[in-house]
Amino acid sequence: MGNFDLLKVKGVSRRDFMKLIAATTAALGLPELFVPQAANALEQALKKPPVIWLEGMDCTGCTESAIATLNPSPAELILDMLSIRYHETIMAGSGNKSEEAYQEALKEKYILIVEGAIPSKEDRFCMVGGKPFRKILIEAAQKAQAIIAIGSCASEGAGIPGACATGAVGVGEILKAEGISTPLINLPCCPVKPTTLIGTLLYYLTYQKVPALDSQKRPVAFYGTLLHDNCPRRGHFEHGEFLKDWNDPIQKQYCLLLKGCKGPKTYTDCAQVWWNDNTNFCINAGSPCSGCSEKSFYKEFSPLYAKQENFDIPGLGPINADTVGPVIGGAAAVGLGIHLVATVASGRLKKDHKEGL
Ligand code: SF4
Repeated sequence: MGNFDLLKVKGVSRRDFMKLIAATTAALGLPELFVPQAANALEQALKKPPVIWLEGMDCTGCTESAIATLNPSPAELILDMLSIRYHETIMAGSGNKSEEAYQEALKEKYILIVEGAIPSKEDRFCMVGGKPFRKILIEAAQKAQAIIAIGSCASEGAGIPGACATGAVGVGEILKAEGISTPLINLPCCPVKPTTLIGTLLYYLTYQKVPALDSQKRPVAFYGTLLHDNCPRRGHFEHGEFLKDWNDPIQKQYCLLLKGCKGPKTYTDCAQVWWNDNTNFCINAGSPCSGCSEKSFYKEFSPLYAKQENFDIPGLGPINADTVGPVIGGAAAVGLGIHLVATVASGRLKKDHKEGL
């Protein structure tokens, strides 16, 4: 059966397929001319690059996120067609059968996807089939053609497991400690965004190399902009209008900084590419950004929904949360103005953020 015949059986039309390619290439900032090339590469990819998907200390939230946009969806298209040989949550087999499938997959040229953190204190904190997860990861990482660490836990050991006593670390730390040089791509967020995972896979399958990464090994295409710069509430921030009372309808759309928003410190495309097939994202739904795409999540950003003292506002420096409104409003009034704040804030928060294209 040809690849598109197979897609038809799965209810994916040629038109939907091309729409997927156009959307993902646009997300990567690639020109329209690239679409046929990407479509061709993906058709070739449909001939089955094998994937091993390991889970360490996780909540399976990244799996849930990746497969939540079904019927038909980019997630179904990519994940199904990638030939996932081993995935503890979604595979039908179990016990010896799944172990056999895993050992067979290890003989191939596979892409390794890792979900969940790795305990660095004691191996017993995460055992799979009687083996330490750390050792399973080391073995799989050495033979993989590339590794994609998905979610905050696998990327940096930075999610909820990072707040526990296990000494949770991300995949990168294990690779460094073991001297493993397999290319690594980190896709943090809690959970991983399906569009980010699919776009990264598409790029890798097309070019057979990792995309441009920042200093935290995150693809610049998805993590290259500061959330604060694209936030729909940004106008209120600049006017010093901050939500203080949830029950006041006038404040409903105000900036959420005083409610703990980490948008000024968070690199993510959440404001441009919304979650759940572009349905919504945290800030638009009324929740402050918790900074889940950053290393500092969750430990250094907690409590997540409380104002932070001495929050560092780009261009204005550390400001006490109680005085941020008057300070920013006053600054605008005396001519510091919207553009100074915006210019200083726009991507120059850390000058060394991007490692290159
Ligand atoms: Fe948006 Fe948060 Fe920045 Fe306010 S602080 S403008 S809510 S990202």
